[in-house]
Amino acid sequence: MKRVRYQPCKFCKLQVRTTQKKCPFCHKYLYDFIKEGVNFDRNKEIVRLKKNGSTLRQLSDDFNISQERVRVIYNDFKDR
Ligand SMILES: [Zn+2]
Repeated sequence: MKRVRYQPCKFCKLQVRTTQKKCPFCHKYLYDFIKEGVNFDRNKEIVRLKKNGSTLRQLSDDFNISQERVRVIYNDFKDR
């Protein structure tokens, strides 16, 4: 079973599931999935969460990517 976690929407500040791509309240994209360089915001968020103590496994579950991918993203984005 997947854990459900919440974070405040960065636009309307209501609690939204971390796996939601689009806020159900204000209908804005939480990550810039549709932009070129698509995953930049997501990757920064992964770095932020990992620095706050999230494990590779948690991040892997939350973002639907492999733990190895989380590790690579972290190493790539941690200094940006
Ligand atoms: Zn919102």
